[in-house]
Order: sequence, then structure tokens, then C-alpha cells
Amino acid sequence: MTKGNITVQTENIFPIIKKFLYSDHEIFLRELISNAIDATSKLEAIAGSGEIEGDLGDLTIHINVDKAAGTITISDRGIGMTEAEVKKYLNQLALSSAEEFVKKYQGKTNIIGHFGLGFYSAFMVADKVEVITRTYKKTPKAVRWVCDGNPEYEMEDYDRKERGTDIILHISDDSKEFLEHDRIEGLLKKYCSFLPFPIQMGMKTDIRWEGEGEDRKKIEEQVPNIINDTHPLWKRNREN
Ligand code: ADP
Repeated sequence: MTKGNITVQTENIFPIIKKFLYSDHEIFLRELISNAIDATSKLEAIAGSGEIEGDLGDLTIHINVDKAAGTITISDRGIGMTEAEVKKYLNQLALSSAEEFVKKYQGKTNIIGHFGLGFYSAFMVADKVEVITRTYKKTPKAVRWVCDGNPEYEMEDYDRKERGTDIILHISDDSKEFLEHDRIEGLLKKYCSFLPFPIQMGMKTDIRWEGEGEDRKKIEEQVPNIINDTHPLWKRNREN
């Protein structure tokens, strides 16, 4: 009997992802946020079955744009991944389905999510992607995975105490538009309006007036900039 690994021709995957999905680059954000939502929903489901002790804490998903550093970070407090899961989901499955995707659907766009390629859409806008993740399972360590689209990757233990995943995109020169706060906020409003967990992009200034007549004064306060309404009208019951 012989055992081995299927050889996947990944060398050309990244340039092809960039080229064929060119017109739709902005969907990377939708794909990564939908992974964050999935990871958070799975956490709630697991907690519902009694498998997780204690409070789940704040499940808000954070999107941070750091123009000076040239990065966008998507952070969730979902189930996270073990080292074995990172190897399985980020190194093997996604890449092999990427090859399948490219063979089958060259030239067509908008189908990226159906092929387990969602995560790899990050490489449409980033020349390096870092994943820092800690599973909800009891484990002594978190994992950091880095890939610059070679497609070689590096993996190492990482010091992170909190459950969940940070995806850090080092935005490539031809995608600098995504480092503009307003561009990302606009995309978040487009894609995230009715998602089931809060999506936060930094803080915003909330202005309100208090008092009457001469005592009337303007109060400015920094509050979380939550993009979506997790309780849309049609989901509220009549009593609320
Ligand atoms: P899909 O979401 O279609 O399965 P992706 O390529 O987007 O494919 O992701 C591959 C897998 O990697 C996911 O199925 C999931 O198991 C894992 N994964 C990706 N992002 C996250 C995340 N933020 N938290 C936990 N697991 C994740």
C-alpha cells in the first residue's frame, strides 16, 4: 500500500484568483465577514448544547482599518481554529478547491463562496494574509498562520489568550482604495445591514443636546460605530 498527498498545482492559483475575479475585488470583505459570522453562530450552537462553560462574552465582530500600517483586520470571537483545523481548512481544502474552481469556472465571477474559496478571496486585495486564532476548545496554545501568496505558508504557536480569530490583510499596492475608512464603511453598510451579530468599525462621535433654554448644551460622546441592526423591525414581535 502506498500513502501520500495529492499534489495540487497551487503555484498559479493566486495570480488567477486576482485576474479572474478582478471586477469583484470588493467581495473579499463579504466573504471574510461571512466566515466570522459562521464561526460565531457555530459557537452559539455549541454553547446551546452545553459544551462550553461560562459566559460567551461580547460577540461583536470588529473591522479595523489601519491606513498607516496598510492593514485591514477582521476579528471575531467565534469558535476559532485548532492547529489541526488551520492545517486542514486553510492549507489543504481551500487550496485544492481553488484549483477545482479555477479549472471549472475560469472567467466567471461571483461564485467564489460556493467553492470553499471564500477565505482565499483575501488574496485579491492583500499580498500577505495573517491569521491568528484560538479555538474555544481547551488547548495550551493559539496559532499564527502567515501566507504571502507564494503559496508557501508559515505556522507557529502564538501567545493569544482570547478565543476567536483575527484575519489581518496586508493590503497590496493596487488595492490601496480599501484602506480608506469611508470605502470600507460603505461596503459594510452594503453587505452587513442585517447580519445576526453586531459588526463594529471603530468608534464614532454621537452628538446630542441636553437641557432647556440657556442651560441647553451640546454633548459629544464617543460610542461604538455599529454598522448593522441585529434586531430589524420585521424580527421584533408585537409586544416589543
Ligand atoms: P467556506 O467558508 O466556504 O467553508 P472558506 O475558504 O471561506 O470556505 O473557509 C474554509 C474554512 O476555514 C471554513 O469552513 C472554516 O472551517 C475555517 N474558517 C475560515 N474563517 C474562519 C474564522 N473566522 N473562524 C473559524 N474558522 C474559520
